[in-house]
Amino acid sequence: MSYVNTVTGPVAHTDLGRTLMHEHFLFGFAGWQGDATLGGFQEEAYTSACVQAAKDASAYGITTIVDATTNECGRNVRFLEKISRQTGMQIICSTGYYFQAESAYAYWQFRQGFANIEEEIFEMMVTELTRGIEGTDIKAGVIKLASSQGEITPMETVFFKAAARAQKETGCVIITHTQLGTMGPQQAELLISEGADPGKIAIGHMCGSTDLAYHAQVLSQGVFVNLDRFGLEGELFHTPTDEQRMDLICDLIAEGYGDRILLGHDSVNVNLGRGLIMTDFMKEAMKDANIRNIGQKVLPGLARRGLADAQIDALLAANPAALFS
Ligand SMILES: [Zn+2]
Repeated sequence: MSYVNTVTGPVAHTDLGRTLMHEHFLFGFAGWQGDATLGGFQEEAYTSACVQAAKDASAYGITTIVDATTNECGRNVRFLEKISRQTGMQIICSTGYYFQAESAYAYWQFRQGFANIEEEIFEMMVTELTRGIEGTDIKAGVIKLASSQGEITPMETVFFKAAARAQKETGCVIITHTQLGTMGPQQAELLISEGADPGKIAIGHMCGSTDLAYHAQVLSQGVFVNLDRFGLEGELFHTPTDEQRMDLICDLIAEGYGDRILLGHDSVNVNLGRGLIMTDFMKEAMKDANIRNIGQKVLPGLARRGLADAQIDALLAANPAALFS
């Protein structure tokens, strides 16, 4: 039996149940804290939005959500614990940083001048995975890594190396962000060459590409693919549509990879800082960008394509359980 840290304590991998592998209850682009005068934390409004999101996911049998918000993008473990206790949703939180252009690497660049930052990042991850986050006893359950479009920058590489070491030390799962369907194979190669266990790696945002050769380059390394952006569609996000992604799932199952596919939406249930101002274009592009989408559109869409109930259920339950075992 393996145990996974959730924000309310360890859970057996066999008790995870249907799991969404990449969502955000709260997310703020690094720097939102600097706009706190006009975009400060609204405890009550954010709580009701996130409680509703957890209930919406429960409606199609989801019992666990991996929250992929990184340390500098508004991760708030006490808030997640509150949402978990109010709804019964099991929430797994992350340790790590986002990709360079949308992260806050000034701090690490500064420290690089006088400290061994790979060692410090390793220490940060292991502490958050085994002892607790920000003075609480709430522990991270996964490491979150990210790389840029078309490259893993030197600073991102430091995080990948530290993460591989932290995984060897703790046995934890690593989830990743790839930018616009690039660098999936290279992320897996880098982690594995640094000693990480491929069976505990989920390469993320792989539904940014429907190229089967690209998927095979990743999957042949023994890792999982996270098709975790259902609902983010089309031009605004430079991605395939959900219908194309459902076809991709069928193709991957036909290729024998049915036990290596994970699902999610990359939903952002609260944007930290000042709220979004939605243009008509954004409204249209994001009409299905919510945590209900897999239940409402994807599961029926897969059934229509002829997948058996057990094959569909495995994507949400057996496959995450295998990743965390
Ligand atoms: Zn995300």
